[in-house]
Amino acid sequence: MSNPDRRAELTTRLGEVRARIDAACAEAGRSPDEVTLIVITKFFPASDVELLHELGVSDIGESKDQEALPKVGELADAVRSALSVHFVGQLQTNKANRVTRYADGVQSVDRGRLVTALDKGVATALDSGLREKPLAVTLQVDLGEGEDRGRGGALPEDLAELADRVADSEHLHLRGLMAVAPRDVDEAGTRAAFDRLATLGGELRHTHPDATWLSAGMSGDLELAIAAGATHLRVGSAILGSRPTGR
Ligand SMILES: *Cc1c(COP(=O)(O)O)cnc(C)c1O
Repeated sequence: MSNPDRRAELTTRLGEVRARIDAACAEAGRSPDEVTLIVITKFFPASDVELLHELGVSDIGESKDQEALPKVGELADAVRSALSVHFVGQLQTNKANRVTRYADGVQSVDRGRLVTALDKGVATALDSGLREKPLAVTLQVDLGEGEDRGRGGALPEDLAELADRVADSEHLHLRGLMAVAPRDVDEAGTRAAFDRLATLGGELRHTHPDATWLSAGMSGDLELAIAAGATHLRVGSAILGSRPTGR
């Protein structure tokens, strides 16, 4: 597809998603200013990221380290410095170092060893001039129940300790919680899961008042996330189109 055609397509789809956000905020009595749209650009090229930037997008998310490092590197300096780049995917401890070179934040932190590795990685990246700021960290919570547990994220009972560990890390800034709705649940189940996330966020803020982010809501359930109080949405396919093999 030519660049003008892609631009027109992204303009339309972004407009549709922004209208959905505005409507859901109106319904929930919230201001759209409280909600940050993170466009998940995994599987799509750097040229799409540049178009999204031209269309006013401030935040993008990536979930595959192998793809994200070269893609973020391809962005023009002015585009890169205007964007916040969030890593949202499963992260192996031995890749933590790489992620600290190109991401402003990691939303998928779910275990202590990863916290240690990220803090070390940021220290090295700061030393060698590869980054200038601490890393924004969001703890990923496993909202599954029963057999649905174990698909990524820390268990709710482990959050307090993990949060303290992030807060005690010199180069990490604890920002809040992130979750993906459990699979195989209906709308009521998704609502209940997002409400649990909001409750956990409230509890976290007793001890970490700065941890205000609630990252929830994707293409299919962003309205439910806004109703539950999400501050960050992670929307991919509704804006960029479907990905190969539905990932
Ligand atoms: C891919 C992905 C999204 C976006 O999903 P869509 O359904 O395409 O909006 C959000 N969050 C995470 C963690 C993802 O991996």
